[in-house]
Amino acid sequence: MSRLKSVDQETIRVLNQKKILNLIYRNNTLTKQEISQKLNISIPTVISNSKELIEQGFLEEAGVAESTGGRKPTILKFLPYSRYSFGVCVTKDKVRIILANLNFEIVHEMDFNMPEKLKDFNDIICKVSENVEYIINKFNIPYDRILGIGFSLPGTVDEKNLLLKNVPNLKLKNISFKEFQTCFKFPIFIENEANASAYAETFINFNDIKSSLVFISITEGIGTGIVIENNVYKGFNKRAGEFGHMTIVKDGKKCNCGKKGCWELYASKKALLSEYRNAFDDMNGTLDDFLKRSKNDLKIKSILDIYIDFLAEGIKNIILALDPKNILIGGEIFSYKDFLEEELIKKVFKDNSFYDETQCNIMFSSLGENAAVFGAALLPMESVFFLNDNVI
Ligand SMILES: [Zn+2]
Repeated sequence: MSRLKSVDQETIRVLNQKKILNLIYRNNTLTKQEISQKLNISIPTVISNSKELIEQGFLEEAGVAESTGGRKPTILKFLPYSRYSFGVCVTKDKVRIILANLNFEIVHEMDFNMPEKLKDFNDIICKVSENVEYIINKFNIPYDRILGIGFSLPGTVDEKNLLLKNVPNLKLKNISFKEFQTCFKFPIFIENEANASAYAETFINFNDIKSSLVFISITEGIGTGIVIENNVYKGFNKRAGEFGHMTIVKDGKKCNCGKKGCWELYASKKALLSEYRNAFDDMNGTLDDFLKRSKNDLKIKSILDIYIDFLAEGIKNIILALDPKNILIGGEIFSYKDFLEEELIKKVFKDNSFYDETQCNIMFSSLGENAAVFGAALLPMESVFFLNDNVI
């Protein structure tokens, strides 16, 4: 019995410490009395737990507040530089690496291009490892201050077994990240790009409004991350949210996944770019060239209009399937928000007998193009902040 009891006490102690850390993280500074009131735990419990958090380096005492009667209360301050985390975002074209502190301030970042023909994923990991070592040396960070390295990956992921299962757009299958553990002196974490982005939106921009959301990441393909009441929904086979491969055109264009007419062939950033390149016979043109150069060109407008139609059709289907409170759009398409947002919202709700604008918010990600890489950096921080693993 005594053993069971001690395990319980240990669990409660860890939970209380996480609750205190979460609260001070949100508020930056609080007195011990305020913590006690907000969390409904006793002052002695706050004192003993905060003492340990100070010893671990997460908090410091920062003076005293004005007394409301009795002793002046001690102020506790959150120390964002007490731990660090690496976030790595892998897309078809680029690998981006950030070193973030606990406040998600980017201490350093760098990126490199993916090789034209990817022969071996080992090469990418070696390059990430070299860059990570360079950053650690440059900033002289002790290894015990680094919580880990998280990877945001553009495919289906079994995060518990560190397995990247399938990335049709990179023609990669069954890559075990367990084998890469020897390349780093701290733990590796992996997550699907859209789920990582959804995590970041829910946690970093802590806000009740975002406790239920679908994050639609639009880049080379389209991925979606589903958060229900602060829990990421992954499904029985961990494949939930593959809306990029729902059929939007029967017998349509052929997809890398083997099916025809998938949504991402019509509504990804790549799809929009290839429409423009074909229409203008300019295979090197970028979306910036097409969109930002010729605002009043009818051909440019008409291609954009058709693209937004497809985007809206898919979003309507997602709303019908999941009835989310919020839809957030991110990924590389984020740079073109000004060309898309207003028209997209109009098209989703036009002649829509099921929903109107007050029943589902459609917005672009507030983290912009950082959502996935912040989500990756957040993965190692779960051990510090999260009360449970938030995956259902
Ligand atoms: Zn497909």
